[in-house]
Amino acid sequence: MHSSYVEKRQDVLVKQIQKASEHAQSCWDTAVQNGLFHVPARCEKCKRGRYSKKLEMVKAKNQGVAHVSAKFFKYAHYVLRCDNWTCRHRLNAVRTAPWPEKCCHTLTLEQVAEIICMWLQAKQSPPSPRTVADRVSCSRWAAQSLLDFITMKTAAVAEDMSAGKQVISRRLRPAEVYEIDGAGIGKLFVSARSEHWKRQIELWNRLHPRSATPKYFQGHVRLLGVTCRTTGWLLLKPLPVKLVPPKARPPQESRQEVAQANLLKLVPKGSVVCADGARGFPASCKKDFGNKKFRVAQVNHQKNIFTKRYTFRNLWGKAYRRIIAGTQQLDSTWRHLKKWRPQSLQQKLQSGVNPMRFKWAYSYMWRHNAKCENMLNLKTLSDTLWR
Ligand SMILES: [Zn+2]
Repeated sequence: MHSSYVEKRQDVLVKQIQKASEHAQSCWDTAVQNGLFHVPARCEKCKRGRYSKKLEMVKAKNQGVAHVSAKFFKYAHYVLRCDNWTCRHRLNAVRTAPWPEKCCHTLTLEQVAEIICMWLQAKQSPPSPRTVADRVSCSRWAAQSLLDFITMKTAAVAEDMSAGKQVISRRLRPAEVYEIDGAGIGKLFVSARSEHWKRQIELWNRLHPRSATPKYFQGHVRLLGVTCRTTGWLLLKPLPVKLVPPKARPPQESRQEVAQANLLKLVPKGSVVCADGARGFPASCKKDFGNKKFRVAQVNHQKNIFTKRYTFRNLWGKAYRRIIAGTQQLDSTWRHLKKWRPQSLQQKLQSGVNPMRFKWAYSYMWRHNAKCENMLNLKTLSDTLWR
């Protein structure tokens, strides 16, 4: 039997749609199982019917053309159907995602799944909107808005962890060695006449009455971090920006700053705290967190000492215990954190620090901690995005 050209074309098209739908269905099933999409229990329109488990293709860019590109499936949009025959409401499958309706509404199911997969599998730095857009054939704007949503949500959850709002006692083990250190994540050039930094400049003048005000200042944007040696768990807090004259040494963490960041509050009692030579750490441990009975092991970086053996008596029920002090683990974390941030991110926003810088750091922290627990997967990310 010969079939006509039109019939052949129809056959090919039907097969291609079938194949595309199967792929979308498998994407959908994994995403729903992992909790990325939340399908409402009852129909949104009639409030009685239930939505189908199976997806229905409603729109494909190349529909009606027999020969379609390999990217065909990525353009198709799918709906769920209400099973009430008088209603038959159609719910866009992507609309059941955690992000607001306006955010990346042009993305299809497969594109969303692939972008999230790319983000989870990223090694050193997150995928840029441009690479994502090229790979999944979507607009750069859509890719950007989804990636931004992920960054903001993970950052918000990490911020709560650092504030002690989440239960993290399991990860910050008692009787452990902790490292604490600050790190600069950027510099700002601040004019001596800047209105925005007026108060800090006045403060500097008051503290240095004998020296003339320089033409400009360098503002150090810093983070304070605490990490647990065995679990690798990381906590971050931004420190206030400190202005120093040009070519001056980066500022050391003061006792007041360490106390205000309040990260040591989350470290269990009786732990060993490793720090660099900054005087703020032992002072804060002793005076602000005295009830925690921390033992401080310092190494002096300025004297080029980076590791040092410490022997503590009567530590954790043992007669003596040896510890290698230093902040090596935290230093390598800082290196990775700096790589993670996109290069294009602006330093300044309306002459202040761009708050996105801290969001990126927090987002990295979320990722780092998820990785430490071997939980960097779709399930964990979905839970975070819905929070
Ligand atoms: Zn309905």
